[in-house]
Amino acid sequence: MTFGSMQHMPLSSAYLCEDCHCVGNCAEQCPACASAALMGLAGVLNREQPREKAQLRYLLGSLDARVGSSLAA
Ligand SMILES: [Zn+2]
Repeated sequence: MTFGSMQHMPLSSAYLCEDCHCVGNCAEQCPACASAALMGLAGVLNREQPREKAQLRYLLGSLDARVGSSLAA
């Protein structure tokens, strides 16, 4: 595979065709076989977005600080 033939797409735009098992970026129709039996991969893989991880880290840090201060009092 050459660098020029590689392709990528964001997970939020990736759809698996249940008929031919190709992955495309169209939610209405498979670009390979024109099937409408598509499954959005973002919902199946349930990946956290980087921003959500940062917010979770902030909330956990805040919770640790509260627990630490209540234990010290
Ligand atoms: Zn297909």
